[in-house]
Amino acid sequence: MYDFDYKRPTSVAEAAATLRKAGEDAVYLAGGQTLIPALKLRLRKPSVVVDLGAVKGLDSIAENNDGLLIGALCAHASVAGDKLVKNRIPALAALADGIGDPQVRNRGTLGGSIANADPAADYPAAVVALRADVVTDKRNISGDGFFSGLFETVLEPGEIVTAVKFRVPEKAAYVKFPNPASRFALVGVFVAKFKDEVRVAVTGAGASVFRVAEMEKALGKSFKAVALDGIAVPADDLNSDLHAAADYRAHLVGVLAKRAVAACG
Ligand SMILES: Cc1cc2nc3c(=O)[nH]c(=O)nc-3n(C[C@H](O)[C@H](O)[C@H](O)COP(=O)(O)OP(=O)(O)OC[C@H]3O[C@@H](n4cnc5c(N)ncnc54)[C@H](O)[C@@H]3O)c2cc1C
Repeated sequence: MYDFDYKRPTSVAEAAATLRKAGEDAVYLAGGQTLIPALKLRLRKPSVVVDLGAVKGLDSIAENNDGLLIGALCAHASVAGDKLVKNRIPALAALADGIGDPQVRNRGTLGGSIANADPAADYPAAVVALRADVVTDKRNISGDGFFSGLFETVLEPGEIVTAVKFRVPEKAAYVKFPNPASRFALVGVFVAKFKDEVRVAVTGAGASVFRVAEMEKALGKSFKAVALDGIAVPADDLNSDLHAAADYRAHLVGVLAKRAVAACG
């Protein structure tokens, strides 16, 4: 690990000002589940680490009109165990409960996960399938346009994710094929049925989360697993690595989408 200065602000405004003052190579710290290993491995060399852990007001969960507003600092375990989430969007609670291991779930945060935009992370599928808005200290960003590529989002330098607003669907389920070591998604499919549309969001398979329009159209006509028969996702742009080849991931998308629809009941 390289040397760095450590700051622990207590408000969002102070955190943003601290980072701004510290300069371009400063970085926010949330649960540290990605950042700390990167520091230890000397993959990152920030001059200042601005810890968001003491910032007040970012760890609440509340119902808000047609959705649930979940604070960016909510740990995965808090989302998984929250009564409101379990009651209103059980698929989201189950997704959080399937992330990593107990240590990761107790430290890792919603804001950190989506800001990091790992292609194999679970939350991006929920953000897109549940028509979420990402709330920052500067603006509201539609979840549809939040993820812009491999480990990339549209967040501007220094912008802080403060919360995510997930819409409550009629039915939803998330099914993933986890990497047996890390539990990251080799492929994960989130299916959400709203009154006016069905969304199918896929994580783990491509550089970034994506929707499958053909599946959404078929499920819009008939919300049954058999409606997906014969719909294949092209492997061309999917990830190939030591864990799985692109054509295997493409096959998994079809299998997991059917399982997710069946799990919606
Ligand atoms: C062993 C292991 C297994 C894992 N398995 C899974 C899994 O199965 N599924 C899964 O989805 N994830 C998994 N993860 C990732 C984990 O879920 C963390 O959520 C993720 O690493 C980042 O969240 P964090 O709060 O730890 O962020 P940090 O590591 O603190 O930060 C990550 C990045 O986000 C930025 N950041 C953090 N918070 C904010 C904010 N509020 N606003 C703006 N920028 C911010 C930081 O500056 C940093 O660049 C795993 C991690 C580990 C170590």
